[in-house]
Amino acid sequence: MSTQSGGPQPRRTILDIKAYVPGSSGHAHEGKVYKLSSNETPLGPSPKAVEAYKAAAEHLDLYPDGSAGALREAIGAKYGLDPSRIVCGAGSDELIGLLCTAYLAPGDEVVYSQHGFLMYKLATLAAGGTPIAAPETDLTADVDALLAKVTDRTRIVFLANPNNPTGTYLPYDQVLRLHAGLSSNVILVIDAAYAEYVRRNDYSSGIELVANSKNVVMTRTFSKIHGLAALRIGWAYCPEAVADILNRVRGPFNVNAPAIMAGVAAIGDDALVDRAIAHNETWLPWLSAELTAIGLQVTPSVGNFILIGFPDADGKRAADADVHLQRRGVYLRRVEAYGLPNCLRMTIGGKEVNRLVVDSLTEFMGAG
Ligand SMILES: *Cc1c(COP(=O)(O)O)cnc(C)c1O
Repeated sequence: MSTQSGGPQPRRTILDIKAYVPGSSGHAHEGKVYKLSSNETPLGPSPKAVEAYKAAAEHLDLYPDGSAGALREAIGAKYGLDPSRIVCGAGSDELIGLLCTAYLAPGDEVVYSQHGFLMYKLATLAAGGTPIAAPETDLTADVDALLAKVTDRTRIVFLANPNNPTGTYLPYDQVLRLHAGLSSNVILVIDAAYAEYVRRNDYSSGIELVANSKNVVMTRTFSKIHGLAALRIGWAYCPEAVADILNRVRGPFNVNAPAIMAGVAAIGDDALVDRAIAHNETWLPWLSAELTAIGLQVTPSVGNFILIGFPDADGKRAADADVHLQRRGVYLRRVEAYGLPNCLRMTIGGKEVNRLVVDSLTEFMGAG
């Protein structure tokens, strides 16, 4: 679709946006559907969060606390952070957008890695900025390549750590090196949406770096390990001055009341988080090994999903595998939009569907 001449005209860069296509939910399939396309948890939401949500339903006539105070207090208590430096959003997607809105003028540049999370590019274009992708090495962000793209027009560098859709991560010493290479007027945004899943001694979500610098922001989400994707809750831990700016540009009631109450309950449910980690620790290595054994290329992942590379051969491509799996009710994520046409991204699911995927892809790779 193009805008007609003479009609209302949006900011020029907005016409460069291809609307985000979410992971398929398999609505059209008859029979049991397994959605492994959006990195949601197979364990469901915390029962405590569901209870809090239902209780909040009795008060739908009232505006929420615009500062999401109870939620910021709960997050602060959990991680030992100053609640006044936490800003909540309708998903971390909103916070990514607000950072771009607040800090970009037309023509300003935003740097991220080649297969980085798509929202960075979309939010940059929506705000009138220029997105700049830096090459990766082995499907992993490359600090030198990122720094090589930084110019005096650069305002923000986004790093998803670990990254979606690749599942790879940068050790903390590399993150520190990236930060050290940026001038103090460039914001480094560390998107740690999958931090809870990572089991590596050399990993850090970046909390200390935010605490000790004026130009680092860490974003987190309740959509993944906490199982509240439907409610749209994210948060950012920021330098004081950045929190002040985000509080000026966000909607005054950007996080709704049931979400605030469910989020408070979810952050207190350590048992559910522990179960999710244990589940992932069992099935991530199992799936990686099984799929590698049948000749697929699995990128080593530290998140709750894996990137699966398919052969470049007729009938065996990622698109063919996608059709094959959909016939069995299993929906993975196509990642052409990430520059990975030969791959599918699979969320680690429950036991039943994990086995179904391995059986189906074994059949797929063996056929013909
Ligand atoms: C899922 C995801 C998010 C979280 O999005 P929400 O808006 O909080 O649901 C952020 N960053 C990355 C890299 C993700 O994969």
